[in-house]
Amino acid sequence: MTEPASAASTPPLPPPRGGEAPAASDAASPRSRWRNPWRALPRVRWAVQLAYLAFLLLTGWQFARFAAAAAGDGPLGAARPPAVEAFLPIAALLGLKRLLLTGAWDDVHPAGLAILLAALGTALLARKSFCAWVCPVGTLSRALEWLGRRTLWRRRWPAVPRWLDLPLSGVKYLLLAFFAFTVFVRMDLEAVEAFLHAPYNLVADAKLLALFTSPGATSLAVLGGLAALSLVVKHAWCRWLCPYGALLGVASWLSPLSVRRDPEACNDCQACTRACPVEIPVHARLRVLSPECTGCMSCVAACTSPDCLGVTRKGSKAWSPWVVPAAALGVMLVAWLVARATGHWETSVPVETFRWAYRAMGMAR
Ligand code: SF4
Ligand code: SF4
Ligand code: SF4
Repeated sequence: MTEPASAASTPPLPPPRGGEAPAASDAASPRSRWRNPWRALPRVRWAVQLAYLAFLLLTGWQFARFAAAAAGDGPLGAARPPAVEAFLPIAALLGLKRLLLTGAWDDVHPAGLAILLAALGTALLARKSFCAWVCPVGTLSRALEWLGRRTLWRRRWPAVPRWLDLPLSGVKYLLLAFFAFTVFVRMDLEAVEAFLHAPYNLVADAKLLALFTSPGATSLAVLGGLAALSLVVKHAWCRWLCPYGALLGVASWLSPLSVRRDPEACNDCQACTRACPVEIPVHARLRVLSPECTGCMSCVAACTSPDCLGVTRKGSKAWSPWVVPAAALGVMLVAWLVARATGHWETSVPVETFRWAYRAMGMAR
C-alpha cells in the first residue's frame, strides 16, 4: 500500500545537514550532548509485548486443558478462556455483520467480537498501535527481526526495494477485500447465522490449537518458511499477508495521531528510517500517514536531534509520544472491562454443546 496522496505530495526537503559525525566545533554544543527523552519507549514496548505474549501462552495452556476435557467424557479441569477468541477473526467479522443487521451480539464467540471492535478503536485513535503494543504475532515478528539483526545483518539491514514492497504489501489488502466481500456482500443473514452456530465454528479455536501443538508437514513448512523469511525481511507476514493488519491499516487513515518530522531540526542521519520495523522512509516524510505505520515509536526513540520527531494531530503542536501506547492500551482495557461488565465476554454456549461439536467434528477421544 502506498503513502496517501497527502504524504506523497509533501514539499521538497531542505538540503541535509549531513549524517556524518559532528564537526569539532559542534562537539561540546548543547545539541551534541542531547539525550533523547523518549529513548525508554522501546524498552517499555518490549515489556508490554512480552506481558501480552505471556498472557497468550497462559490462555493457550488453559484452553488446551479445556479442549482435552471437552473432547472426552470426564469432568472439566479448566474453564474455557474467552481471550482465545482473539484468534478467530473470521468469526468476529461474521459476528460484526450479525450485530449490524440485527443489533444482537455474537453469543458463540462474544470476546472475539469485543476484541475486533477494540482493535478497530485503537486504529481509529492511534494508528496500528494494536500491532506494535498488543498483538503477540507482532511481538514474535519483532523478535525475529531482532534475531536477524544480531546474526545475519549486524552491519545494515537490507531494505526491500520499493518496487517489490508495494505490490507485496497490496496482497494483504486483496485478502481483506476477499473476506469483506464474502462476509458483507455474498453472505445473507441466514448464512451468517448458520456459520456462527455450526459445529465447525464451535471448534475452530481447538482446530487452530491443534495446528500448533500437532503440526503436520505442511503446517511446519509454512510456519518455518514464514519464520525464516522474517529473519531476512522485517515483519514479512505483517507487512504483506495479514488481512487483520490490513483492516487496522484502513481504519488508521482516520486516526488523528501521526508521527511528525520538523525539517528545520532534522540532520538527515536517517536513524529513524533504520529503526522503522516496516521500512517507512521517515527521514523523507513531514508526517507519517502511511497505513503501514504501527505506532511503535521506534523512530521517535531513535531520533538524534531535539524537537525533530514527535506525535501530533494535524495543525497542532507536538504531543508526547506516550499518548500512542496510552491510547492503545487504554482502549483495550476499557473494552475488556465493558464487555465483561455487560455480559459480552463469556460465551453462552453450554459445555455439553461444545462436547457435541467436538464429537461432530471427529475430535472426541
Ligand atoms: S499485522 Fe496482523 S499479525 Fe501482524 S501485528 Fe498486526 S494484527 Fe498482528
Ligand atoms: S514510522 Fe515510526 S512509529 Fe510508524 S512504524 Fe515506523 S518506526 Fe514505528
Ligand atoms: S528525523 Fe531525527 S532520526 Fe530522522 S533523519 Fe532527522 S534527525 Fe535523524
